[in-house]
Amino acid sequence: MQFTDFSLDQRLLQTLKHMGIDTPTEIQEQAIPIALAGKDLMASSKTGSGKTLAFLLPAMQRMISCKALSKRDPRAVILLPTRELATQVYSQLRLLVANTQFKATKILGGENFNDQAKALARDPHFVVATPGRLADHLKQHHLHLNGLELLIFDEADRMLDLGFAEQLKQINGAADHKRRQTLMFSATLDHGDVDEIAAELLKTPEHVAIGAGNLEHKDITQRIFLCDHLDHKEALLSRILKDEQQKQIIIFTATRQDTDRLAKKLADDGFKTASLSGELKQNARNQIMDEFSRGLQQILVTTDVASRGLDLLNVSLVINFDMPKFAEEYVHRIGRTGRAGAKGDAVSLVGPKDWVNFTQVQTFLNKQFAFSELEGLKGKFTGLKPKAKNNKKAKPAAAKKKAATAKKKSAAKATANRDRRFATGVDVGDAPMLRKPKAKLQDTPED
Ligand code: AMP
Repeated sequence: MQFTDFSLDQRLLQTLKHMGIDTPTEIQEQAIPIALAGKDLMASSKTGSGKTLAFLLPAMQRMISCKALSKRDPRAVILLPTRELATQVYSQLRLLVANTQFKATKILGGENFNDQAKALARDPHFVVATPGRLADHLKQHHLHLNGLELLIFDEADRMLDLGFAEQLKQINGAADHKRRQTLMFSATLDHGDVDEIAAELLKTPEHVAIGAGNLEHKDITQRIFLCDHLDHKEALLSRILKDEQQKQIIIFTATRQDTDRLAKKLADDGFKTASLSGELKQNARNQIMDEFSRGLQQILVTTDVASRGLDLLNVSLVINFDMPKFAEEYVHRIGRTGRAGAKGDAVSLVGPKDWVNFTQVQTFLNKQFAFSELEGLKGKFTGLKPKAKNNKKAKPAAAKKKAATAKKKSAAKATANRDRRFATGVDVGDAPMLRKPKAKLQDTPED
């Protein structure tokens, strides 16, 4: 199948030709006809499989072939969880709109609010946005969505993890009319909360799932090394970096403190290294990503701020210096390599503190990993035994009830902590819980 087999406008086909793209990927082959037919869609496929064009092309085609519902309102809104992802989607969109009359703008947290209000006043046809900031502009009536034709959620599960459910509902509510089409994409849609919100936002959607989010990525070689302690991890890391000729490398750590410490160590060891974490100002984040994508740095040390969607074609090795807390994040992290059919390597360093997270990854992937070793660097750690079953006598009913209440409370606390972790430890993009008090138009809020 070729892109010419879809009924796409010549200008779009021309742009694809300039991009060197002629054959649709599997997700494009399946999702584009459904989206072109105007149906709602929930789609998932592995990272790097061409999801962006799977929604941008039908969105462009709809703009070209249908009359606008309103002269002033945006016709398509694309929502993404992080500013980096939004920037990436926006740059692909700009290529597509370049030889058409359509205007696109990007509305992200951390950037100047007044400038964004002015850009919205110029009535763009496409708005690519992070949800928190777009909801703020909606509240200020800087845009209206009565004429919205297409609402697209990319990495929907991550937006929910970041606590954006309310903003997604607000945006949906502002564009609540019968002729709106909704598309929802993610690498991992098998997420309980996604089904719940999808039931509210989508109308009898078609489903496309190209392999489950947890299916093995054939282009990525995965290796696991067991480690005794931090020094052992660092020794393994040094050897891997010394032995392997890699184009570019992303190293994921658990916290931003680890990111900074490790980046400094690698820079001291002579590697061109940058570190990226969520609390940096947006222009610093942009500059770091720009330098890394242009190959000015060989190594990027980061938290999960860079785990999703970023399309860095020269990354050939991903290292989990620490295992991610949520198993699906592992799929997203290693998906920074092996993109668009290229081969990639993923290495995970698993110490005692990583063990539980590592076993969750194995369960999620339904896979039992073999462990790799490097000569002279074999450690003693071989994994933790599962905790023995509690053989205590059955509790009386009152004690059972008390235990159940305590468990409920602790689960609620764990959820709150998880939200807080997203808001403080890793990337929050413009997570709502961090938003500053409402700023006046002349202020330039960071989020
Ligand atoms: P995405 O999953 O949308 O982030 O896309 C990953 C990479 O694949 C990007 O560099 C795209 O430009 C590229 N890509 C998307 N569709 C195709 C295609 N049909 N053929 C070749 N490369 C593609």
